Amino acid sequence: MNKVPGSSQSMLHQRIAALRWALPLMMVALVMLYQLVIMRWVHDTMSDPLHFTVEVIFYATTGPILAYWVLNRIRSWLVEKEDAERRARTHEQRLASITAASADAILSLDPQGMILSWNRGAELLFGYSADRMLKQPLTQLLSGEDAAEIELQWLSETARQQGFVRGHETACRRIDGSEAMVELTATHIQGDQGTSVILRDITLRKQREEEIRRLNTSLNEQVADRTRELAEKVEALARANAELQKLDQMRADFISLVSHQVRAPLTNMRGAVEQMQVSCPVALTLTCAQMFSIVSAQMDRLDRLVSDVLDAARLEVEPILVQAEPLSILPVIRQAVEQMRARRMDHPIRLPTRPGLPLVDADRERLVGVLVNLLDNADKYSPPGGEIGIDVRADETEVTVSVRSSGPGIPEADLERIFDKFYRVESGDSQRAYGYGLGLYICRRFLEAQGGRIWAENRAGGGCVFSFALPVWEGE
Ligand code: ADP
Repeated sequence: MNKVPGSSQSMLHQRIAALRWALPLMMVALVMLYQLVIMRWVHDTMSDPLHFTVEVIFYATTGPILAYWVLNRIRSWLVEKEDAERRARTHEQRLASITAASADAILSLDPQGMILSWNRGAELLFGYSADRMLKQPLTQLLSGEDAAEIELQWLSETARQQGFVRGHETACRRIDGSEAMVELTATHIQGDQGTSVILRDITLRKQREEEIRRLNTSLNEQVADRTRELAEKVEALARANAELQKLDQMRADFISLVSHQVRAPLTNMRGAVEQMQVSCPVALTLTCAQMFSIVSAQMDRLDRLVSDVLDAARLEVEPILVQAEPLSILPVIRQAVEQMRARRMDHPIRLPTRPGLPLVDADRERLVGVLVNLLDNADKYSPPGGEIGIDVRADETEVTVSVRSSGPGIPEADLERIFDKFYRVESGDSQRAYGYGLGLYICRRFLEAQGGRIWAENRAGGGCVFSFALPVWEGE
């Protein structure tokens, strides 16, 4: 820190004033010390000539030594003062050049608010030269005359009371009449010598802030609009969803109602037909036997349709219950084939003969259902004379069962889609066969619920193969 010259001057005065008293006091103290202590000892122990010599030496040296010491002190204090003054001058010059070169406007005001200094930054900011503005009131710069007087008074008063005013934003007039927004810092100069004022141009910042505020407002409006639109859409979606749920429920209710209403009379009809066959008193004619057989086949078909529709409807709303157990696949295949044969199939079935297969982890009833479905399809879609074959193979993780049939096969594009709900191949042959596109969909869902999978392929020599794989039972 540079010492202020004023303070070093007053310190020098104080030191010299103190020395004015200290010097005589020190001399008195020395003489008294000599006279009271040393001289007595010299007087008692030394001869008179020696005693005289000591006294002469004491009085002749003490005064000059003290004077030398005092002058030396004063000299070093003067050097110190000169140093402090030099440093202060350099500091002042540096401050003055910083003030002059500053991009901010730096002014000093007298206690009446008249401008005493006007730097280059002020010239650049307001366009006025120093000659024009020196001795002019600061109110000339501030916008609004009466308000400017009040503002200046408030600034000087607050700066006087608190020492400074910082970050005060106000509007000033430039030489061309345009308005400049400034951030003002006023500092009270000690000794009531006026106020120093720094003005920083914040016009651009204010314009940007205004722009950001405007953008923000428009953004908020846009967000509010979008939110409103979204809320309306969400409401419409919720309404549509509720409507859909209602429709879905109605559909499920309708399917369940129709299926049950159909199934009950169907069961009664089956019972009645069987009763008629058994209790007929006379032997049936060939035509009658054929009619009974047709009625029975049609009832089977209707029964399968009802149970498929019920299964598909249930798959939509509830999880599939699987009662998995370790199963040997060959007996399951035989059970399915027997069920099919009881229905009088049009094509012969070749059964697999492969002992030593691992057990599968599956639900017996559902597995029989899947096999019956695949065999029924093979019977339905194979041309007369074609044979149906069942193959089984296994590896360490899966047992795979394939049902192969003859015929034209399935278009490549449909090999995946035939497992979708209600999907049927649009070829004339397929459409002629009785069906409704639910069987393979149900098979896929049942197998997937048991950790299995199903797929279809075309055979090189014609016809197709439907295969499904199930995980090997891993228990003991
Ligand atoms: P549906 O047989 O009642 O139409 P599925 O879901 O069982 O319904 O079969 C879907 C479609 O797959 C059938 O319409 C048929 O076109 C085709 N498909 C199924 N199995 C065979 C098969 N063995 N041979 C040829 N096409 C088949």
